[in-house]
Amino acid sequence: MATKTIVCKFGGTSLASAEQFRKVKEIIQADSARRIVVASAPGKRFDEDIKVTDLLIDCCGRAQRGEDYTAVLQTIQNRFQQIIDELGVSMDLESEMNGIRQHLEAGPEIAYMVSRGEYLNSMILAQYLGFTFVDPAWCVCFDEDGVLDAAMTQRTMGAALKPLHGAVVAGFYGADSAGAIRTFSRGGSDITGSLAARAISADLYENWTDVSGLLAADPRIVNEPRTVDYLSYRELRTLSYMGASVLHSDAVRPAARVGIPINIRNTNRPQDAGTMIVGQLPEGRKNAVITGVAGRRGMSVIQVEKVMVSDGAGFSARMLDILKNRGIPFEQCLTGIDTISLVIRSDRLDACKTELLEEIRSTLHPDTLNVKENLSMIAVVGEAESGYRNATVRVLKALTDAGIEINTINQGAGSLNLLIGVAEDRYQDAIRAVYSVLG
Ligand code: ASP
Repeated sequence: MATKTIVCKFGGTSLASAEQFRKVKEIIQADSARRIVVASAPGKRFDEDIKVTDLLIDCCGRAQRGEDYTAVLQTIQNRFQQIIDELGVSMDLESEMNGIRQHLEAGPEIAYMVSRGEYLNSMILAQYLGFTFVDPAWCVCFDEDGVLDAAMTQRTMGAALKPLHGAVVAGFYGADSAGAIRTFSRGGSDITGSLAARAISADLYENWTDVSGLLAADPRIVNEPRTVDYLSYRELRTLSYMGASVLHSDAVRPAARVGIPINIRNTNRPQDAGTMIVGQLPEGRKNAVITGVAGRRGMSVIQVEKVMVSDGAGFSARMLDILKNRGIPFEQCLTGIDTISLVIRSDRLDACKTELLEEIRSTLHPDTLNVKENLSMIAVVGEAESGYRNATVRVLKALTDAGIEINTINQGAGSLNLLIGVAEDRYQDAIRAVYSVLG
């Protein structure tokens, strides 16, 4: 029987101190399937602490401006030295730091500097676990524009990791074909984990962080919201887009393409099952009809009314062309018999509102043209195949009962995927009202 393989990614708070490293080791040793580990740089140990990645950015900026960076570099060295000493790991940090000093003197590059947090932390973790250290500069491949080469990465990462029985891969960076270090955007170690899982066709991608999974609503708005047990890749996309943050948005695709489940786990509470993100719910498992609610503030709606809009072919296309030519993305396009409503982020609209409205007026000659501002969008998602219509009714009733006016509503075909526009000042009330009917 083929042995099971789990790729585990540990985030910055999970590897912020020696105490956290010990928890990580216990987790790894609890299951022999956990043989590929992806590590972040040390994160915050307490609220006012500074992440090593931020210290590295600061250090590099100072060096580039010709300012004194020695104190910041020393702080970084001290953080790693403390972890090494407390764990009793043997590692020549001094010679690694000398390499970084030489780089800073020769002409600092931000990508290289910022990657050193993951590089050093992963080396320490590999030593501590007795695993092989894998430098992603050799197997996470970027093109010359700094864009990930997914196909090449899959081949090289697969070749590098498959033979290893215990490996720690540094997260967050790779290199281009000229050998220059390139990084993902912030939080990108999640992507490295997903790429590794795909490259070795892992059975599971565990993403270990400091929360026990995705919450069904924002805890700053809803008191102690419940944790979502199961979530589909698509639902996660919608909720993350709307602001729920638990995983880097680019981290879903590599694992999702080949159907590898992603399990969000808490390093400080390994007994919690966390959230399982899957393509399809396991056999016999019934999810709540409404999985979660999230929202985004700062939206505006442009409403164009013209009698018989729907009869005039190309009207909507011309409207969208105007936006496209100005490089303004829109969030939703809602069309009625005689109306088109475009939901646009207010910051994008405000930059060119007067000229844009003028262009719409002179090109399309609408009967009326209105802009509604200070709106928020609420996203309600659920995967249940039947019963979602009933769920829509429940959500709308909850909003009406709370006296919240619904400005726009958008429900695509298929599973529950409701987007509702409400006034900004009722945003929190709306989230609470929807949460009250989750079930
Ligand atoms: N250390 C990087 C950051 O702070 C990448 C990561 O942790 O995923 O963004």
